[in-house]
Amino acid sequence: MSTKPSSEETPDPQGAFPRLSDAQIAALDAQGRRRSTQPGDVLFAEGDRECDFFVVLAGKAASVEGHGTPEERVIAVHGPGRFLGELSLLTGEGAWYSAVALVAGEVLAVPVARLRELVAGDPAFGDLILRAYLLRRSILIGLGAGLRIVGSKYSPDTRRVRDFAARNRLPYRWLDLEADPSAEAVAAQFGVTPQDTPVVIVHGRLLRNPSNSELAAAIGLPAPSEPQASCDLLVVGSGPAGLSAAVYGASEGMRVIVLDATAAGGQAGTSSRIENYLGFPSGISGAELAERALLQAQKFGARFAVPAEATSIEQDDGHYRVRLGDGTSLTSALVVLATGVRYRRLDVPRADYFEKMSIYYAASQAEALLCSGDPVAIIGGGNSAGQAAVFLSAHAAQVTLIVREGDLGEHMSRYLVDRIARIPNVHVMTNAEVRELHGEAALQAVTVVSNRTGTRHTVAARALFVFIGMAPCTGWLGGLVDLDDHGFIRTGSPGAECSLLETSQPGIFAVGDVRAGSAKRVATAVGEGAMAIRLAFERTRPT
Ligand SMILES: Cc1cc2nc3c(=O)[nH]c(=O)nc-3n(C[C@H](O)[C@H](O)[C@H](O)COP(=O)(O)OP(=O)(O)OC[C@H]3O[C@@H](n4cnc5c(N)ncnc54)[C@H](O)[C@@H]3O)c2cc1C
Repeated sequence: MSTKPSSEETPDPQGAFPRLSDAQIAALDAQGRRRSTQPGDVLFAEGDRECDFFVVLAGKAASVEGHGTPEERVIAVHGPGRFLGELSLLTGEGAWYSAVALVAGEVLAVPVARLRELVAGDPAFGDLILRAYLLRRSILIGLGAGLRIVGSKYSPDTRRVRDFAARNRLPYRWLDLEADPSAEAVAAQFGVTPQDTPVVIVHGRLLRNPSNSELAAAIGLPAPSEPQASCDLLVVGSGPAGLSAAVYGASEGMRVIVLDATAAGGQAGTSSRIENYLGFPSGISGAELAERALLQAQKFGARFAVPAEATSIEQDDGHYRVRLGDGTSLTSALVVLATGVRYRRLDVPRADYFEKMSIYYAASQAEALLCSGDPVAIIGGGNSAGQAAVFLSAHAAQVTLIVREGDLGEHMSRYLVDRIARIPNVHVMTNAEVRELHGEAALQAVTVVSNRTGTRHTVAARALFVFIGMAPCTGWLGGLVDLDDHGFIRTGSPGAECSLLETSQPGIFAVGDVRAGSAKRVATAVGEGAMAIRLAFERTRPT
């Protein structure tokens, strides 16, 4: 990467910039139009939506961030046979960079609608494009391209905006007001004082402390559906269970709307590597699984609204009406509840204070970048804590895994226990509980107490990752469906003519982690999402 356009083609060690074969280019030729380029021609500009899909036929083109500004930087240079763009082309977000011709040449421009059809209809081509685009998104995240978030690490709104970007796999760079000298310069450039922060710069536009919905709209994430919209199937929650219901429902011809309060992917989207999901022998990152499933559901016509939080549900003239946080509502005769669970907050003194900057409930690429080279601690003895330990060990200087039980294998899968044992910079403390948090501007250390002997240890930690159990997201249901004593949704009550996944209300199904007795795994959530569609069809069929 350089700050000046170089005409050297970017090497491709990861397979993010594959070259199309002559046959593939010939097939695309019929769908698009060729055009010659001159040096400096802008093929698409940062922020553009629904731009064409470009293949370089002759000459070279570069992906350039901040094109024409003093901060201009070249992300990649592509020669003949390579194609331009990244995931935003398929998701409908504005482009995160401009594409600029470097020398005289020729490109093939294919309308994005045609590209989507080709991706959907030709598995080999579709997979090539999808894989490259997912890798390119990962590269952008790693480079800190995309959004600029300027704010203090002590501001809850800064943390909220950063979390929203991370959960939606948006590339961003956080300029920490306290620690990053460029933060004030950027704030001054846009005429904002530190009191106005956080601010977010999206495609050159400044947003002052935007709500998640405002940010989503500026980026081009799928907007909440129009008020009073109706559909055949309303899916609430787009983790693996909701995504699966959306894919199967839409592929069977239902008009499906999916809501999510935060981001598609749910908990699975925060997992660094899922290794026990069928068909991925070397594992798949939760972000990739979520992105693939989202595109798959959209391919079949499912419509998504993110962020859109369901706040209540009621019966309304033979349908169910779900109200959203923004005051709008949607109705449907069939509803799939797939709202999953939320990780429990840490209950130790000063946790509220450190929540703003040093405590995390997910360990994905975004969090890893923030604690790179630092010592970190993880609390929890389940698979999510184990995965986090393995993943963070590649980024952090030292990882301390703090487990309440006496044996790591009590709640963690054997493959993870074995893997952790082989990683030199992961230190496991069993029979151990975090009781105190230390630090001023940021977390520095935690006090760990043995629940067997009472011995106290101080453990260095700049970040604390917490995976200590879950609470179901069912508070908004207001008693419409039966819950168990822990707040999980009961399904399949004997004698109530309910099918396996149907709740106490006919036509409302519950799937995945939010369902009482579910297995709390990606595979089972996906299975239940698909099965709910089958059962929903049975419900609508006249007897
Ligand atoms: C870090 C981590 C690693 C994991 N690793 C593995 C693994 O390797 N293998 C495995 O099998 N399982 C793993 N799991 C568990 C797995 O991710 C879950 O079992 C699975 O995600 C459950 O899917 P779900 O769709 O039921 O719910 P969730 O994934 O919890 O998704 C629920 C969605 O509903 C949304 N939502 C909640 N309330 C509302 C509302 N009121 N309105 C709108 N939307 C709402 C949420 O924002 C969320 O996106 C892991 C979990 C974590 C956290």
